[in-house]
Amino acid sequence: MRHPFKVVVVTGVPGVGKTTVIKIFSEMAAGEGLKLHIANFGDYMLRTALETGLVRNRDEIRRLPLRRQLELQREAARNIVRDASERLKDGGVLIVDTHALVKTPAGYWPGLPKHVLDELKPDSIVVIEALPEEVAARQARDKSRFRADIGGVEGVARLMEAARSASIASAVHYASTVAVIENREGRAEEAARRLLEVVKGL
Ligand code: ATP
Ligand code: AMP
Ligand code: MG
Repeated sequence: MRHPFKVVVVTGVPGVGKTTVIKIFSEMAAGEGLKLHIANFGDYMLRTALETGLVRNRDEIRRLPLRRQLELQREAARNIVRDASERLKDGGVLIVDTHALVKTPAGYWPGLPKHVLDELKPDSIVVIEALPEEVAARQARDKSRFRADIGGVEGVARLMEAARSASIASAVHYASTVAVIENREGRAEEAARRLLEVVKGL
C-alpha cells in the first residue's frame, strides 16, 4: 500500500498557487532537515510532449487528444516514481505538484485515476484552494501562462468544486488523507506552513 518514502500529492485549480506554495514549503522543510524530492507532473508530461513535437508549451497539453494525454499521464506517473525511488532510497518525502481534475475540451478528466494512484500510492492528497475571484486575478496577472480556457471566475468556481470531489474520490483507493489548504491572497507562506504540518503528521 505504500512506498518506503512518504508521498504527498498537491492539487488545485490552475493558478491557485500550488507551485508557489511548494517552493516556499521546500525552503521551510530544508531548514528542518526534511529530505524532499519535488516532482512537477506537468514537467514530466511536457518533456515527452515537446520531444515529440506535440505542443509548444505546458498549457497546450490539456487540449491534446485525450488518448494522447492518457499516454503522457501514464509515462509521467511511472517516471516520477522511478526518479523518486532513486533519490529517496533511505526515505523522505515525495511531493507531486499536479491536478486532481483537468479541464479538457472533452470534459473534466481525472489527474489521479486508478492507474496513476497505483504508481504514486499517496499518503496524502492536498487540495490548495482560494477564492475564485482571487484565482482568476492570479491567472490574469501571470503572463507567463495561458489559463484563459479555465473560464474566468465562474469557470474556476465550477472546476474547484468538482476538483475537491475528485480529490476525495482519488483518496479512497490508497486510504490517503485529504487536506484542504487555503492559499489566501498575499499569504502563501501560511499555506506553506500548513503543508509542512500535514507532511510532519504523516
Ligand atoms: P498551474 O496549475 O497552472 O501550474 P499553480 O497552482 O502552480 O498553477 P502558481 O504558478 O504557483 O499556480 O501561481 C499562479 C500565480 O499566482 C503566480 O503569479 C503566483 O505568483 C501567484 N500567487 C500564488 N500564490 C499567491 C498568493 N497567496 N497571493 C497572491 N498571488 C499568489
Ligand atoms: P501545470 O503546470 O501543473 O499546470 O501542469 C501542466 C499541464 O500538465 C496541466 O495543465 C495538465 O494538462 C497536465 N497535467 C499535470 N498533472 C496532470 C495529471 N495528473 N494528469 C493529467 N494531466 C496532468
Ligand atoms: Mg504550477
